[in-house]
Amino acid sequence: MRKLLPAALGCLAFAALAQQPDTPLKEYPYSPGLDPGSMDRSVDPCVDFYKYSCGGWIAKNPIPSDQPKWEVYSKLNQDNLRFLWGILEEESKKKGGRNPSQQKIGDYFGACMDEDAVEKLGMKPLEPLLARIDALKSARDLGAVLAYLQLETGDSGFYFGFGSNQDFEDSNKMIAFAAAGGLGLPDRDYYTKDDEKSKEIRAQYLEHVQRMLVLLGDSPDAAKSKAATVMDIETVLAKASLTRVESRDPYNLFHKYDYPKLRKLTPSFDWPAYFKALAFTKTSIFNVTEPRFFEAFEKEISGRSLDEIRTYLRWHVAHSAAPYLSRAFVNENFAFYSKTLRGVPELKPRWKRCVALVDGQLGEALGQEFVRRTFGPDQKARTLKMTKQIEKAMEQDIREITWMGPQTRKNAIAKLHAIVNKIGYPDKWRDYSSVAIKPDDFFGNVLRAQRFESRRDLDKIGRPVDRGEWFMTPPSVNAYYNPQMNDINFAAGILQPPLFDAKMDDAPNYGNTGGTIGHELTHGFDDEGRQYDARGNLKDWWTKEDAARYTERAQCIVDQYSQYTIVDDIKINGKLTNGEDIADLGGLMLAWMAWKMETANQKLQPVDGLSPEQRFFVGNAQWACGSERPESLRVKAITDPHSPVKYRVNGLVVNMPQFQEAFQCRTGQPMAPEKRCRVW
Ligand SMILES: [Zn+2]
Repeated sequence: MRKLLPAALGCLAFAALAQQPDTPLKEYPYSPGLDPGSMDRSVDPCVDFYKYSCGGWIAKNPIPSDQPKWEVYSKLNQDNLRFLWGILEEESKKKGGRNPSQQKIGDYFGACMDEDAVEKLGMKPLEPLLARIDALKSARDLGAVLAYLQLETGDSGFYFGFGSNQDFEDSNKMIAFAAAGGLGLPDRDYYTKDDEKSKEIRAQYLEHVQRMLVLLGDSPDAAKSKAATVMDIETVLAKASLTRVESRDPYNLFHKYDYPKLRKLTPSFDWPAYFKALAFTKTSIFNVTEPRFFEAFEKEISGRSLDEIRTYLRWHVAHSAAPYLSRAFVNENFAFYSKTLRGVPELKPRWKRCVALVDGQLGEALGQEFVRRTFGPDQKARTLKMTKQIEKAMEQDIREITWMGPQTRKNAIAKLHAIVNKIGYPDKWRDYSSVAIKPDDFFGNVLRAQRFESRRDLDKIGRPVDRGEWFMTPPSVNAYYNPQMNDINFAAGILQPPLFDAKMDDAPNYGNTGGTIGHELTHGFDDEGRQYDARGNLKDWWTKEDAARYTERAQCIVDQYSQYTIVDDIKINGKLTNGEDIADLGGLMLAWMAWKMETANQKLQPVDGLSPEQRFFVGNAQWACGSERPESLRVKAITDPHSPVKYRVNGLVVNMPQFQEAFQCRTGQPMAPEKRCRVW
């Protein structure tokens, strides 16, 4: 399930040093796909390949003061934002001559940028939401109130999330999902861990909740005791929630309930009133992802006073809406979530937050403008060709691996053949015509766009699956595999230089974008993805012996990454990052195979003192150049299924004999160990 408005809030450091020029871009910028100037050739590639490939980039690119980390991806993302800023500024100033999409994105951006108007309103926009909470007269009223708050904000912070998703056992069906939610901190572990740092963050969180409640008008004393109530409620919900590692197993998130059974699970919650307020009528079947969580929810609402419930809801309203309110709210929200939690010194400038919001709320309207200017049919064709080659390489790989028996092999190839490639942008753009966007009503625009999205999500239930749908916007510097759609998706924003450089030869492009394509493809066969079949159904297609052999190989990767340090004494949680680590390694292996096939009849020459094979590996490593603040790394350790960038390079090459050969490393050097892992 998806949720929530994008976190349009900022972060971070070394302000004066690294300040990016704060101007919109009129031309889309270019950086080369392999840049020798980003390397540090004083480092031995066999000792630390990441530093060898990225040392120069890191030295030249300190983390800007409004960012928690700064990587090649973040820099490209910022370029995209500045380019979109240019488009939006132009559209916001036009008086006429705009099509309906341009009117919406232009007026949304203009209203968002009018900070004085936002400031004048203070907390006034919250009044209708708070009034609904104040009017709560009994626990039975909670159904209608939660429906209202969830629809308006799209936030699963009000106890739980409710929306549509493909049925795990029949991917052709869209059914209702009720999922755990209700927390203000980034993960349930923040409430349960007992180390000093976790206790300190909880104390700072209490103070933050208190200050937010004071902004809503409470006295400091009253706010202090109310903050304790919030912490109490959230701790109960957190303890009843699955850990991120437990959530990686889809069977842990799959529990079908009919309507009577759902009502019996939480008898104190008025589901009929809730559904009536949602205008939701398709009540035949539900996936309650975490029944234990809903048992805790039942105890919470039956055992709490109405005052305590109101306090909890008031906090979440303020929390959810803070980015769209006056500076006092924006700054307090920034101070805790970015500065304290992620170490970011400075709030992002308003233009950046506003561009990100247009992208988050009207992304396919803005995306059309982006695609028209940056992503032509030739780029689409070239990426598609590379994708097909990587798929061919995977087929060959599956046919050749020795640990898999014939039956599983046949199923694996059937699954591979069924994967759908989606490149750049959707074939059919989302229709926002029913969303009213006004040039002078920022908060209203946010709510209306969110209501549209909540409605769109709920309306999918009981309808045929839209297999053309995208779950990210075209300018995103991102890609994903969706196990139930069984498709791989690459946004136009990630198929740009320096990640994909049409002016460069194949070696760095296969290393970089080829590796990304292979990565997404491998997700279909990682610890999670392998549990879904060719049709996207949760169904075991492995023989027992092959599953055991797979698990043994995956465990080799878990053990490898669990030894790497993220920050201070915190190691990678190798079970949490297993899927991504497997995808990284598999992806690069497949990219290598595809590149070798593509260039089999070419005579390749060294460039800048690097052999073609070396350029493949450096080209790959240079997607990952970057650094991250220690506070942000701590959040990452708990919440992020990706390993830190350094290990997304060094952790791969140690497993590839092709790397050892390309750089002539001696066995036993850090990048050429004797023991290697390999899954795909
Ligand atoms: Zn991934």
